[in-house]
Amino acid sequence: MANIGWIGLGNMGTPMSTNLIKAGNAVAVWNRTKAKADAVISEGAAWADTPRAAAAASDFIFTMVADGASLHAVTFGADGLIAGLAPGKIVIDMSTVSVEESAQVNEAVEAAGAKFLRAPVTGSTMLAQSGTLGILASGDKAAYDKTFPLFEILGGNQFYLGGGDEARVMKLSLNLMIATTMQMEAEAVVLAEKAGLDVAQVVEIIAGSAAGSPLTGYKKVPIGTGNYAAAFSVKLMIKDLKLAGAVGQQYGVKLESTNLTRARLELADSKGYGDLDFSVLTKLLEEESGYTR
Ligand code: NAP
Repeated sequence: MANIGWIGLGNMGTPMSTNLIKAGNAVAVWNRTKAKADAVISEGAAWADTPRAAAAASDFIFTMVADGASLHAVTFGADGLIAGLAPGKIVIDMSTVSVEESAQVNEAVEAAGAKFLRAPVTGSTMLAQSGTLGILASGDKAAYDKTFPLFEILGGNQFYLGGGDEARVMKLSLNLMIATTMQMEAEAVVLAEKAGLDVAQVVEIIAGSAAGSPLTGYKKVPIGTGNYAAAFSVKLMIKDLKLAGAVGQQYGVKLESTNLTRARLELADSKGYGDLDFSVLTKLLEEESGYTR
């Protein structure tokens, strides 16, 4: 049994921390909006009053928050997790943030004598629930080896990528493919729909085709039914594509389809779809194409 602090109880953090509790670990949770902790507290989690308290009570401190700004908000300051660290503790950030934001956290964690793992995840809320996420980790190898049994509870696919921020770049490379795939599927689906085909059949065929993927499988239901409740929101995907764009600029790599998909997502956001699932790109194109189901 490990003593774990868990910070961030959103769509991903809630099922992930629940799996750690169900595996028999002692988990102290903190979330900015306390009411969202009710579900994990009913599973056996303890409430920590601050990120600092969660870190002070734990050997492994996980963060799963929206973006770099929220990671910094829970990390720094009098109530931040750094203030609760001591040598030997391991901080594991599983959010998707930039290399720079991550490096700043690493510096502060190291200065406190602790170790920092970058461990962004691939896969959405369904895989978070089933404990089958892909975990892309980098950072101190000894800390990784100590944390590995916990990663195994959270994920079915484990990858160790190096001693620094390698996992951040890999995560952004993957997410640009995930985003552009949804834009491609939107074009394929709306074209077929407008020509009179049945959307339920269309998404089924795409998912089982050579162009199909686990992602097109997961998105059969939202696209097929038009229920775009967020598994991964438009706003968060825009954040990731901005981060990917910055890495592209840094390395001089053109990311043209990524930029186009980002512009489509920004348009969806401007129409009030920012909190919906990013597969809402299909609905956006239906509307522009004058198609109503
Ligand atoms: P989410 O449901 O929007 O939850 C965001 C979490 O961040 C909430 O706990 C929220 O607290 C917290 N937060 C936001 N701003 C904060 C601030 N200023 N200070 C402190 N806490 C703050 O997001 P999610 O879908 O769980 O995603 C979490 C991370 O995983 C993101 O980096 C995302 O890119 C990544 N990710 C998501 C998926 C997915 O499918 N959803 C897949 C892979 C990776 P409140 O509850 O108070 O709002």
